[in-house]
Amino acid sequence: MAYDYKILIGGKLTKPVKGGTMDVVNPADNTVVAAVPRCTAEDVDLAVKSARAAARQWKNTYIGERAELLCRLAAIVREHSEELVPLETAQYGGPVSKTRNFDIKFVPGELEFIAGLGRAVTGLTISADPNARVMTTREPFGVVGLISPWNFPLVTAVSKLAPALIMGNTVVMKPASCAPLTVLRLGEYIVEAGFPAGVVNIVTGPGEKVGEAIVTHPGVDKINFTGDSSVGKRILSLAAPRVMPVAAELGGKNAMIVLNGANIDAAVEGATHAAFFNSGQNCGSPSRFYVQEGIYDEFISRFIKAASKITVGDPTDERTMMGPLAYMKCRETAERFIAGAKKAGCRALLGGEPPTDPYLARGAFVLPTIFEVFDNKIELMQEEIFAPVVGVMKVDTPEQAVELANDSRYGLCASVWTEDYRLGMKLLDELDVGTAWINQHLAIVPETPWGGRKESGWTKENSVLVLDEYCWHKHIWIHMAETPHTFWEDKIKLD
Ligand code: NDP
Repeated sequence: MAYDYKILIGGKLTKPVKGGTMDVVNPADNTVVAAVPRCTAEDVDLAVKSARAAARQWKNTYIGERAELLCRLAAIVREHSEELVPLETAQYGGPVSKTRNFDIKFVPGELEFIAGLGRAVTGLTISADPNARVMTTREPFGVVGLISPWNFPLVTAVSKLAPALIMGNTVVMKPASCAPLTVLRLGEYIVEAGFPAGVVNIVTGPGEKVGEAIVTHPGVDKINFTGDSSVGKRILSLAAPRVMPVAAELGGKNAMIVLNGANIDAAVEGATHAAFFNSGQNCGSPSRFYVQEGIYDEFISRFIKAASKITVGDPTDERTMMGPLAYMKCRETAERFIAGAKKAGCRALLGGEPPTDPYLARGAFVLPTIFEVFDNKIELMQEEIFAPVVGVMKVDTPEQAVELANDSRYGLCASVWTEDYRLGMKLLDELDVGTAWINQHLAIVPETPWGGRKESGWTKENSVLVLDEYCWHKHIWIHMAETPHTFWEDKIKLD
């Protein structure tokens, strides 16, 4: 019998008020994996009210208890990891090697890391006035709306959930509609772990309806959103009338710079993995390569060779490196960009044609595609494609590479590949991005901050910095002198 997925409201696993479901489709073969609840604004209203009702008690719960619950949740996730791996894969096509080696390991680690981190965090004490004790305290926002994408379904959801909870907020979560299954299972584990009713609420349904109902609900105090930049802008406009804070992790169009004298083996391996891991559906994947003339020919030929060895196929096969894109529309979008690049005069050095293998041809598969590019202004070099499609340009100097890398409305991350660390450090300082690597691209662990600039958003996920996204800093001044501060020359003569 099909698994009965339920939303979580007020501590109860339940169905939407009006009923209704939506299908989750496996992008590898277009079969229906599950039907999940399709909520409406009425369910969002119930979820927000239940989060509001739980907010005061949760805020006043000893942080050690909140941490213990997060650790209990981590243990339950670990117990269920063998079920979660294929489920994550079936809903959006990430190969099992990726879900096992990254997602399902990251999630409990993140929960435990944040649980400990929250307990260690402090405020400031400030020597502002010898007659006063001045400090800052941290206060939760109250009810936080968490809206997450599909490319790392459980990782992104938990990267928001854990810091929100440890800082004393209650939450209403909405996962992406194409990949909500593991987040709905998380709802069951939250009940099993013993979180008080209403602290975590999970609803599913279309972003334009359910997502917007969360953003516009007057009972929500903050939104934390990860997704496309255009959706981020829409959410910001909806939040503006209430001046509600929005944390936004948005798209990327990331550059990889390879300089003369770089360790070519490392650069080729790093480029191939970072560009094509998860079928290029990583906000941090490099999709623009700027390669210096002295290393260009060798890099290109070895990059093509390495990318052509990527095994593309059934994502449930342990040896598969690249599965399908998340759904058929993503494939159509990628093919449109490929056609646009060809029209702009770019030559596909690898891929660039739909797969001919009958299995791949039926699903949302796009083969690794590398274009040689001569103009940084073309769509291929400026727009986020979110697919295994990249452009490579030859550059004369490191400075030119940085200039081209910065010529983007995005600013998420970039990397420089060089053995000259002094030069590399100088270039990192010039890159207008949130994360900059030397001889690395796509290294993400709970301890390191993640987030961009410009139209990539401004929020930080992970690391100690993430806690600031989930609390107000309140300035407290305790005055101990007999009379208060005034800015007048003379004292008022009091009666
Ligand atoms: P989307 O922006 O399409 O969706 C993200 C979430 O927002 C989903 O839950 C979606 O619901 C919801 N949503 C959609 N429209 C609205 C709306 N009008 N109001 C409120 N919520 C809405 O992104 P994708 O899921 O396609 O994910 C890919 C994008 O995410 C890429 O641009 C990628 O770069 C970015 N991303 C950024 C990261 C970063 O750290 N900077 C990390 C990971 C991804 P529904 O699914 O129902 O449409």
